[in-house]
Amino acid sequence: MSDKKTDAKELAKKLFYKPVNAGEELGKKELKKADGFCEGYMDFLQTAKTEREVVEYTVEAAKKAGFVPFESDKNYAPGDKVYYVNREKAVILAVIGKKSLREGVRIAAAHIDSPRLDLKPNPMYEEGEIAYFKTHYYGGIKKYQWPTVPLSLHGVIVKSDGSKVTVNIGEDKDDPKFIITDLLPHLAGEQMKRTPGQLIRGEELNVIIGSRPFKDDAESDRVKLNIMNILFEKYGIVEKDFICAELSLVPAFPVSDIGFDRSLIGGYGHDDRVCAYPELMAALDCEPEYTAVAILADKEEVGSDGNTGLNSSYLKYFIEDLAHMEGLPGRDVLRKSTCLSADVNAAFDPTFPEVTEKRNCAQINKGVVITKYTGARGKSGTSDASAEYMGKIRRLLDKEEIIWQTGELGKVDAGGGGTVAMYIANLDVDVVDLGVPVLSMHAPYEVVSKTDVYMAYRAFLAFFNEK
Ligand code: MN
Ligand code: MN
Repeated sequence: MSDKKTDAKELAKKLFYKPVNAGEELGKKELKKADGFCEGYMDFLQTAKTEREVVEYTVEAAKKAGFVPFESDKNYAPGDKVYYVNREKAVILAVIGKKSLREGVRIAAAHIDSPRLDLKPNPMYEEGEIAYFKTHYYGGIKKYQWPTVPLSLHGVIVKSDGSKVTVNIGEDKDDPKFIITDLLPHLAGEQMKRTPGQLIRGEELNVIIGSRPFKDDAESDRVKLNIMNILFEKYGIVEKDFICAELSLVPAFPVSDIGFDRSLIGGYGHDDRVCAYPELMAALDCEPEYTAVAILADKEEVGSDGNTGLNSSYLKYFIEDLAHMEGLPGRDVLRKSTCLSADVNAAFDPTFPEVTEKRNCAQINKGVVITKYTGARGKSGTSDASAEYMGKIRRLLDKEEIIWQTGELGKVDAGGGGTVAMYIANLDVDVVDLGVPVLSMHAPYEVVSKTDVYMAYRAFLAFFNEK
C-alpha cells in the first residue's frame, strides 16, 4: 500500500508540471542576492519615470560600463560595446559577440513608457480662481484611479529660440506636487450612478497647479497669471511655449517595500521598467558569443506607432548597419536572430480570480513568465511563438536553473492586450514574451515580487550569454 503511494508521488513529480515558488525554492544566499539586485531597481524606478529619463539613466550607466556612441560606418570587434539613442526617447545597446553576424544576434526588447497623463498642447486655464492644467491620458488607464493621487511633472519645453528646458517637479521631498480632485461622497450620488468607465471622464482629469492670485488691479485670470509669472521667472517660458512641449504628470508616491516580509515592491510604472532594468543590467554584465542587442523602446503603451516605437524601422536599420560591417544584408542577420520581448504579464490576483484561468496564469514569486502569445479573441493581434523556439528558451532557462512559469493574459475572451513581440517577429525574428508578473497593472501604484525581478535579470543574462 504505502509503496504504491510513494510510487505515485514520485511519478507525479516526474510527470506533472508544477511551477515552484521562488521564496521556497531559493536558498538564503540567492534570496539575499535577489533583494540586493532589487535595491538598484528601486533606485532606478524612483529616478527614471519617463522614457526620456530612462534613456538618460541608461546612457550614463552604459558609458560607465565602457559603451561608446554607435557609428554606423565603423567596424567593431568582439567585446566592443555601443549605444544608439533614438530622439532621446528610445535607446539600443549592443555588445559585439565573438560569432559572425551571419549567425544572428540576440535581441531583448523592453519598453520604457508607462501610462500617465500628458498635458494638452494648450493646457493652462483658470476656473473658480483656481489654476489648472488640462490633460490627455496616455495609455490604458482606469481614469477613476488618478484623482486624489499626488502627481509630479516631467518633460521638456522647447522655447521660441529653440532652446530646451527640462522639467522635473514633485519628486524631491520639498517639491510641490499636483493633484486632480474628486467629489466628496456626500455629493457624489449622481456621479456614482455613472458607468464605471465614466466615473471620472477624460475631460475631468484636470490638475490643480495653483490658487493664489497675482496682486494687481482688474486683470482677469489673475491666478493663472501668477502661475505663468512663476514659470516665466523659473524657466523663461510663456504660455505659447506649451505647444512645443512634452510634459507628463506621473504619480509621485515613493517606491517602497510592500509587506511585513518586504517581499514585494510598490511603485509607479513597473510596466515595463521592471523588465527594462534587468535587461539593461544584463546588457552591461554580459559577455556574449552572439552579438547582444538590448532595446529600450518608447510608445508601447499606445500601440508602438511613431518613430520611437518598435513599429518604426530604427531597430531594423540598426541591425542593417551592424550587418554592413560584415558586408551582409540586414535580412540575413534578422532571419537567424532570436528575441525576448521583455514585457510584464498580469499576475493572478486572488481578490479577482474570475478574470484568469488558474492553470494558465502567472503568479507572483513563481519566476519570470513566458507568454507564448498575447492578443485577444481568437489569438488576433499577436505573434504566437513556435514550439521549437519555446523549446529553445525552456532549455536555456532550465539549464541555468532560472525559475520560470507560463501564463496567458487572462481568460479566453476576458479581454486581451499585446506587446512589442509581433513587431519584432514581423522582421523575421523568432520572438517570445518573457517578463515579470505584475499586480494592479497600469494603476498609479503597481506591485511586483523581488524574486521575479531577479529571475528576469538572470534570464536576460543567460539569453545574452547563450553559447
Ligand atoms: Mn508593458
Ligand atoms: Mn502596459
